[in-house]
Amino acid sequence: MELKKIQNILREMGVVGAGGAGFPSYAKLSDKAETIILNCAECEPLLKVHRQVLEEYTYEILSALSDVVKTCGAEQGIVAVKSHYTSTLNALRAEIGAFSNLSISTLEAVYPAGDEIILIREVTGKTVVPGSLPISVGVVVCNVESMLNVYNALKGNPVTHKYVTVAGEVKTPLTLCVPLGTKISQLIHAAGGATVDNAEYISGGPMMGKLINVNDVVTKTTNAIIVLPQNHGVVLNKKLNFKINLRRTASVCCQCRSCTELCSRHVIGYPVEPHAVMRLFSNGGKGDMSVVAGAMYCSGCGLCETYSCPQGLSPRQVIAEMKAVARQNGLKPPTDVPFDPNVKDAELKKVSVERLSARLGLTKYDKPAPIHEDFATKQVKIMMAQSIGAPAIPCIAEGDAVKAGDVIGKVKDGALGVNVHASIDGKVTTVNEKFIKISKI
Ligand code: SF4
Ligand code: SF4
Repeated sequence: MELKKIQNILREMGVVGAGGAGFPSYAKLSDKAETIILNCAECEPLLKVHRQVLEEYTYEILSALSDVVKTCGAEQGIVAVKSHYTSTLNALRAEIGAFSNLSISTLEAVYPAGDEIILIREVTGKTVVPGSLPISVGVVVCNVESMLNVYNALKGNPVTHKYVTVAGEVKTPLTLCVPLGTKISQLIHAAGGATVDNAEYISGGPMMGKLINVNDVVTKTTNAIIVLPQNHGVVLNKKLNFKINLRRTASVCCQCRSCTELCSRHVIGYPVEPHAVMRLFSNGGKGDMSVVAGAMYCSGCGLCETYSCPQGLSPRQVIAEMKAVARQNGLKPPTDVPFDPNVKDAELKKVSVERLSARLGLTKYDKPAPIHEDFATKQVKIMMAQSIGAPAIPCIAEGDAVKAGDVIGKVKDGALGVNVHASIDGKVTTVNEKFIKISKI
């Protein structure tokens, strides 16, 4: 199939990165790609979607990956998977022989191995220049569920469902396949309910996920719901007040450099120096301003705030605020900063997921969360903006009858974005520019 044709199909069928920011998949594919990496690192504690989906749909995912490699004119596809995901690896080894353009690369159990820049370095040995995209070194990275969605799209089936792991303080941790637009409270109920009073809910992993409300709904990027007590360290960290963090920085940051020495971007040679940013802010913004440009390459992995800092400070939050101001002012990270990817002792500075999990107080929640495909709901609220780019524009009216898979929101011609589809059969009860509600008749 031609590249343009497959891109059109993925745009029409609503395929985006099934996790993270949700970049539209069609826009990632390029005829400049030499290697397509399938990212099954899944490095945040408690997340269990990708390894299970890859084990369950091995042939389908490898088949789609092989097609994408051919379509882009790439040399190879590499499935990057953690070496301790034994059953996933066994399933891969049983099927991969049928695909001559694919191979497997095993990864260590370290965080954040799933960060695209770090993954590319681990798998290919290439380091992406700070501020550049993976394609600059001839690589495209796709995630596992997105590739299953590519397989389905090529068969004419749009994205209507999402796999979500429900873990933490619930009776029965599990991984559900749910219609897009399902309320989070229904997922918690399916997992037997919260086992603590006044629980807090995180969408995504404990490191990079965000606190949400049980009335929020599943979107194309919802990978996990982690339920935790309201006084759990991970929750308190996410509620950290910026002004208090700054005041504490000024009084207790001892400039030990631990945050910089273990920073996941610093250890691959990027000029990210969180300790220097904290010094700048402690001095009321007076000092070496060049550290601001370097901090633009922070990935937000959170290691500095949850793992490295002995004082419980959050360089990540300070840098995130700084980056937000830079974005508002139209500033982009420069691509011409000097950097040396050969960092001394980089191997010794890798952070084991097991140790990270223990440090976060999450080890007791690391339980199996098997896939359940039989979830059903009577009502969905489907968001028009579920990925990076322009939101879809509703193309149906209140009172219309729809079937699962019908287009209900269309992306504007020429805009970065994808179509949105009904996830259940039913009647449209609400339409506005933000969401569409559908109820079973
Ligand atoms: S969040 Fe902290 S550790 Fe992670 S990249 Fe940014 S500065 Fe480095
Ligand atoms: S680890 Fe904490 S105390 Fe040490 S320099 Fe970084 S922010 Fe300051």
